[in-house]
Amino acid sequence: MNYIGIDIGGTNLKAGLVDEDGLLLAVKTMKIREVSDPDALTDTLVALTRELAQEGGVPMEEIASVGAGVPGVVDIRTGSIVYTCNLPLRNIPLRKLFKRRLGLHLYVENDANCAALAEFHAGAGQGSKRFVTITLGTGIGAGIIHNGKIFHGGNGMAGEVGHTCIDYQGLPCPCGRRGCWEQYASASALKRFTAQAQLGNPDSILARVIREHDGHVSGQSAFMAARLGDPVGQQVCDMYVGYLAAGIANVVNIFQPDTLAIGGGVSNESDEQLLHPLQQLVERETIPCSAGKKTRIVKAQLGNQAGIIGAALLGKKKRI
Ligand code: BGC
Repeated sequence: MNYIGIDIGGTNLKAGLVDEDGLLLAVKTMKIREVSDPDALTDTLVALTRELAQEGGVPMEEIASVGAGVPGVVDIRTGSIVYTCNLPLRNIPLRKLFKRRLGLHLYVENDANCAALAEFHAGAGQGSKRFVTITLGTGIGAGIIHNGKIFHGGNGMAGEVGHTCIDYQGLPCPCGRRGCWEQYASASALKRFTAQAQLGNPDSILARVIREHDGHVSGQSAFMAARLGDPVGQQVCDMYVGYLAAGIANVVNIFQPDTLAIGGGVSNESDEQLLHPLQQLVERETIPCSAGKKTRIVKAQLGNQAGIIGAALLGKKKRI
């Protein structure tokens, strides 16, 4: 049998066909007309499923299940999207709509839970008892795997760490609160800090780096400038890593995972610029735990395929 996993984003939906051994056979990306429209969303999920099956040469009857990762709160029992902070998705009975159109069961999960599941089975979390994946993208998500299973809070909720507050008078978040961690340590926050620093320092190496990339501010600009010895770039990196560490220390203090993996583009930065200072700061900010055991902070290994592999594994996980 084969499985399909789909990662739901704002303008693109990314899907993968996975075989019985968890191998990714084909990947496809599709633009969505209007993500907030339940019919458009279902149409795109259905089209992706059909096209992937065709591309992989797999008859529809051999697709065991389809899973979808959603960047927000879902009801895993009914397969509905409840709320997403950074996309206009509210109360969509996705499983029902999908089943009506294609006759297949759709598993619906939080996107970070999907990434964590994939990393646990095939990436950075293998062999770990208490494993957390933190995804740094538009928002911040966390998937917690405890004894091999996704840990769900009440109502099937994921660990909404992106909306834990690190400054109650701080920056506003679209969720309605102030000071949410994702306003400071997501990939979008890093870009925002970088753009502000560039505007304030037009003669800096950082501003030059951005100009050389056609004015495009990326999550890498500040790290690149810092590597060239730019104090402005370095300042942005230090601030960003500081905020990242503050939130990770909260996660570690609450859950004490043995391994915590960081996913998202920023995790590609060098260990010297990212993991080493991060590990140091987190150790400083977490309370000592028994037998001096420390949480190992590592990079996620499956890159941006983690979401689709994990979503596909949702229907398969009982057999692994
Ligand atoms: C959402 C999470 C999601 C994360 C990453 C946050 O804003 O609340 O549910 O996992 O973004 O997409």
